[in-house]
Amino acid sequence: MDYDVLILGGGIIGCAVAYELSKYNFNIALIEKDYDIADDISFVNTSIVYDGSETSDNIMAGLEYIGNSLLEETCQKFKLPFKKIGALRVVNDDNGVKKLEEMYNRAKDRGIDGVYLVDDKDIYDIEPNINNNVKKGLYSENVAIIAPYDLAIAYAEVASDNGVNFRLEEEVISIQNIAKGFIVNTSKNKFRCKVVINTTPNEIYIKENGIVEEKETYENEDEFKNMSYLLVDNNYNNKLSKIVIETFDKNTFVLSSPTITDGSLIGIKSVNKTSLDDNLDYANNLLNDLKKSNINNLFRESYDKDSMLIDDSEIDKGYIRVTGTHYGKITIAPAIAKMLCDTLSSNLNCTLKKNFIDKRREFYRFREMNKKEINEIIDLDNRYGKIICSCNTVSEGEIVDCIRRPLGARTVEGVKRRTAAGFGSCQGSYCNEKIINILARELDKKPTDIVDDSKNSKVISGRIKEFKDV
Ligand SMILES: Cc1cc2nc3c(=O)[nH]c(=O)nc-3n(C[C@H](O)[C@H](O)[C@H](O)COP(=O)(O)OP(=O)(O)OC[C@H]3O[C@@H](n4cnc5c(N)ncnc54)[C@H](O)[C@@H]3O)c2cc1C
Repeated sequence: MDYDVLILGGGIIGCAVAYELSKYNFNIALIEKDYDIADDISFVNTSIVYDGSETSDNIMAGLEYIGNSLLEETCQKFKLPFKKIGALRVVNDDNGVKKLEEMYNRAKDRGIDGVYLVDDKDIYDIEPNINNNVKKGLYSENVAIIAPYDLAIAYAEVASDNGVNFRLEEEVISIQNIAKGFIVNTSKNKFRCKVVINTTPNEIYIKENGIVEEKETYENEDEFKNMSYLLVDNNYNNKLSKIVIETFDKNTFVLSSPTITDGSLIGIKSVNKTSLDDNLDYANNLLNDLKKSNINNLFRESYDKDSMLIDDSEIDKGYIRVTGTHYGKITIAPAIAKMLCDTLSSNLNCTLKKNFIDKRREFYRFREMNKKEINEIIDLDNRYGKIICSCNTVSEGEIVDCIRRPLGARTVEGVKRRTAAGFGSCQGSYCNEKIINILARELDKKPTDIVDDSKNSKVISGRIKEFKDV
């Protein structure tokens, strides 16, 4: 066998599973088709860690509840932010009040502490900047925000340091059953393994001699899933300090969430595709005087409710499938990983590694350090004294480190996501070129070979004044 376990897909679920399994004496590889792990979760999600009080599904509620406390522990261990800022759901009509009461009773039945029904006066005590048109609220003090991309990278780095082989830019083409396991065919290789944990979404594999996989269909598939996001400028003065969600009807809500970098993100879910003006109207139900000039960026994503599938019905044959697009999948990732790992290690009778290192290699973030600490680092390595992104105070040293670490950045997006360079108010217009040059130097490539985030995304198409025939 080439591997005991092959994990397919390097999203947050794949990385969390890789980390949990790397505690055991398994020979493991993770296969990811893209240039980088966790390619889709960094920008488009709201980074909320739920607590199991909001969902109508009891299984998901249990996973969220466990996930919430595991994430708090994990973030502390990996020195990542976990800000328990609390979430306030507000409504302005009787039907909404009824729904909140149901939610509150469900939370109580599930034994979730720290969830309270609040009246209008208490709402303004909790969130003084909220617009004054709400009738009732449900406040949960357990809900937090995190940095999901940093979390995925941390899981992957620790897993890699503990022996997991990350195979990037390798696409799984098919899975084939054999007598004692599987053959996984990729765009580059053919691997034999005992166990496959498939976390890739909506893939149909040609399977021989056994399990036939079909594209999943979810409930509510025909429901319109439009979600618009507004990234609010740091200069906007009336930002809310809690995650606040105002529900208008079953298909429409507006959400305001602080970001981990003290910004603010507004999400609008509605049946109709909304324009920027519509989105501002929705947002101003919650916020005071939010204007176009306060918006830094706008993007759309699809919104998914409780569609999630954890299929371990073939676990005795060595095949596990985790898929679906649940809106709280980051929250539940550590709970799923732990659950799978416990089952697999006992099924395969595997022992814990004696030399497992449960620690992430040291890294520095200048924007989180004081002057004295910064100067000490610059004394050790003067590349830390050269600021590349002045919006977010990111030094050359931090960029070089993020390229040289295990599973280091190889693309411009990879650097930006790991260091926050280029994510400031100038959106990279001053530092993109510098990042490209550092990447080229560190990876021993030409600047024209550096890509933004995938194979066909070259940033510089050629040199000006470069002539083939002169
Ligand atoms: C708009 C939005 C907001 C969200 N907000 C939150 C939130 O606030 N809180 C929360 O907890 N969750 C949130 N989520 C959920 C969460 O971000 C995602 O569901 C989660 O990141 C998905 O992770 P994953 O590992 O399951 O899938 P993915 O990240 O999709 O990972 C699967 C990986 O498999 C790879 N792959 C696919 N096919 C192949 C192949 N053939 N071979 C090799 N690799 C392959 C892909 O490249 C990908 O990297 C949100 C989601 C969305 C869309």
